Amino acid sequence: MNRIFPLPIQCGQPHRHSLTADRLFALTPLNAHPLSNALEFVEPTANALLAALPRHEYFCLLEDMEPVHLAFGELLYDTGETVRYVFFPNDSLISLLTVVDPQHALEVGMVGREGMVGISYALGMRRSPLRALVHGAGAAMRMSASRFRIQFRQSETLQRLVHLQTQALLSQIAQTAACNRFHMIEARLARWLLMTRDRLGKTEFRLTHEFLSEMLGVRRVGVTNAAHALKLRHLIDYHRGDISIIDSAGLEASACTCYRRITAPVWQRSLTAKKSAQLIC
Ligand SMILES: [Zn+2]
Repeated sequence: MNRIFPLPIQCGQPHRHSLTADRLFALTPLNAHPLSNALEFVEPTANALLAALPRHEYFCLLEDMEPVHLAFGELLYDTGETVRYVFFPNDSLISLLTVVDPQHALEVGMVGREGMVGISYALGMRRSPLRALVHGAGAAMRMSASRFRIQFRQSETLQRLVHLQTQALLSQIAQTAACNRFHMIEARLARWLLMTRDRLGKTEFRLTHEFLSEMLGVRRVGVTNAAHALKLRHLIDYHRGDISIIDSAGLEASACTCYRRITAPVWQRSLTAKKSAQLIC
C-alpha cells in the first residue's frame, strides 16, 4: 500500500488538492467498490508515458488529472480547434487524421497506451493541426492543457518523454504516408489491425468496414475485399462490426514492412527500460 499513498508529495507548484484517500474515494462512482476504483485511478500505469515518469513526478501530474471513458467515434478535437485537454490513454485508442476537405480525412497516426494526445499544445501550438477521433473505446486520464503546460515546463523528464513521443509520432506519420502510397490494401489492413491490437492490448475490437475505409483512405469495397481475403486465410474473423484476430503470427506475416518500422521505435524501448527500472525501486 505504500506505493498507493506515498504521502507527503513535494511538487514544484502549490497543490490545488492534496492526494488523500478521502479525495480518491470522493472520485469513486457510487456504484463501484471504492477501494478498487481508487486503485484504478492512482495506478494508471497502463499508459507507458506516465509509467516512465519518476514516481514523485507522476503523482504531481496525477493531482491535475481525472479518469475519463472515451466512447467509440468520440471527437476529442478537430483540426484548427483549441486543445483544451491532453489525454493519456490506458486501454483506449485515438486516431489522428489530416482533413483534406469536409468530406475526406485520412488517418496519419494512432495513439494508445504508449503515449499522449494533445502533444502539439506542449510544443507551443494552442490549436490542433490534426483531428483526434476515438477509434477504440476505453479508459484514459485527462488533464487540462494549461495545467499540462505548467507541469511540462517544470519537468525535464516529462519534456524528454514528450520529445521522444513527438519523434515517434513524426516517424509514424511519415511511414503511414509512404504506406498509403506504395503498399496494397490487404497488407495495410493487416498492419492497421496489428497496430490497433498492440495499442488496445486485445485481439477483439469493434470496427465497421465503413470506419476502416475512412481510416485507410480507400473505398469501402476495397476494405471488404481485403478483409474477406484475410478471413479466407483464417487470419481474422468478423461479424457485424466485431473483428477478431485469430492468427497473430499469420497476420504479422501478411502485414507490410511498415508494421515493424512503426512498432519497434527506439523511444519505446527507452520507455520500457525506464518502466522496468521504476518497478525495481
Ligand atoms: Zn505499409
